[in-house]
Amino acid sequence: MEYGPATEDASAVREWLARQGSLGHFIDGKFTKPAKTFATRDPATGQDLAQVSQGSEEDIARAVRAARRAAPGWAATSGHDRARFLYAIARTVQKRERFLAVLETLDNGKPIRESRDIDIPLVVRHFYHHAGWAEIATTEFPGHAPLGVCGQIIPWNFPLLMLAWKVAPALAAGNTVVLKPAEYTPLTALAFAEICAEVGLPPGVLNIVTGDGATGAALVQAPVDKIAFTGSTEVGRGIARALAGTGKRLTLELGGKSPFVVMADADLDAAVEGVVDSIWFNQGQVCCAGSRILVAEAIAERFETLLRRRMEKLRVGPPLDKSTDIGAIVDPVQKQRILEILTEAQAAGAELVGGQEGSGCFIAPGYLRRIAPANPGMRKEIFGPIATLSTFRTPDEAIELANNTAYGLAASVWSESATVATDLAARIRAGVVWINCANLFDAAAPFGGVRDSGYGREGGREGMLDYLAVPQSRPAGKGAAP
Ligand code: NAD
Repeated sequence: MEYGPATEDASAVREWLARQGSLGHFIDGKFTKPAKTFATRDPATGQDLAQVSQGSEEDIARAVRAARRAAPGWAATSGHDRARFLYAIARTVQKRERFLAVLETLDNGKPIRESRDIDIPLVVRHFYHHAGWAEIATTEFPGHAPLGVCGQIIPWNFPLLMLAWKVAPALAAGNTVVLKPAEYTPLTALAFAEICAEVGLPPGVLNIVTGDGATGAALVQAPVDKIAFTGSTEVGRGIARALAGTGKRLTLELGGKSPFVVMADADLDAAVEGVVDSIWFNQGQVCCAGSRILVAEAIAERFETLLRRRMEKLRVGPPLDKSTDIGAIVDPVQKQRILEILTEAQAAGAELVGGQEGSGCFIAPGYLRRIAPANPGMRKEIFGPIATLSTFRTPDEAIELANNTAYGLAASVWSESATVATDLAARIRAGVVWINCANLFDAAAPFGGVRDSGYGREGGREGMLDYLAVPQSRPAGKGAAP
């Protein structure tokens, strides 16, 4: 693989992809010769973009061996030198940002405005941030050691960003990595591997094996020291069962059904924009999407009028068009899953506003109203551009509804009173609670869930600790425990 053109011109990126032919894995610093391959498609057009390798058990074993060979050298590399690699990766991603944004949009279907202005800049930020951690890791975490080889499995909703969330802290802490991207969206991970080769990252420190769930399952079974997984709760549970008793570390970032609570004193225009950023961002394919809108009864009618007006202005269209707000769902299978939950929700009595099915992988933004707490639309993660809208009378009822879920990833609270907002935030069971904003991410802020949304944190100090082994004994010279 070689770099594509530094352009936002998609036809040039498509031609470049066609010239690549089939793409191999990235193992031990080199791209392998592809054997068995599968097509990755542009969900907006249904066209094949490239043939990608289907990773076998043997491919995973080779990648893990390469990562194991590289582990002692990388762990012994000084924090300063590790930081230099992470800075170089950040700078090179920045240099290629246009190419990476187009590639991401082609492979995933997300609006180019999002990949260009959100995904790729956050990737860059994550590597810069973790270069800082690499520099100070030995003084900040005295006696801690890297875990060794980390297996990482990521989903398709933020392909390169999820890679960054996993790879940056792992490398900063001195671990080596075998990463498996999602089968729908492997292209930016392979472009990233090329960047690592260009900046001279030692062979074996980062390995990418593409493939499907079977490839992921082979990585879980392989002799790695940690598995970091982001994806569905069901697969996450299976991985936790498979790893029980093995001594391997595990962090899980799973699904969500996050509440979006609008109090009677909220700035309603701002809250409506918050909904746009929350459930209509990335076609609603966001684990922490504010998918359950809960509104104070006193302002519910006004809020809904504003919401509906704003929703009708959103433009559904070709992801590469800079004026598109809602692009394509990642794959026909995912679109079908969304439509099935909508059918179930309506059969159980909910009323769907918007949410029309378009041709191909498109679904218009929408919401389910008059929906009972037990309705499947209220309980299942739709993972599409459809929220639920319901009302509450008192703050206690808002909390009861907000916590009426098996998940606990995120929440958003809207009120002009800091006391009301912080009081509610403290009573909602979720890993992240945003006040008067939604879906804001910062590399310095730990992100992760509770209950069925998983455990472990990504980002900041806590994220680093999830890639380090705690000291086995007290540093010399320290007194005995009290
Ligand atoms: P998934 O869990 O099936 O896939 C996520 C990743 O895990 C992919 O790389 C996949 O190849 C891999 N995988 C699948 N089966 C595996 C197995 N048995 N062992 C190891 N790895 C395996 O998720 P999906 O089907 O791509 O998405 C479905 C649902 O997942 C969504 O509707 C949503 O609920 C959830 N999801 C959550 C997030 C998140 O960020 N929390 C992201 C994407 C999807």
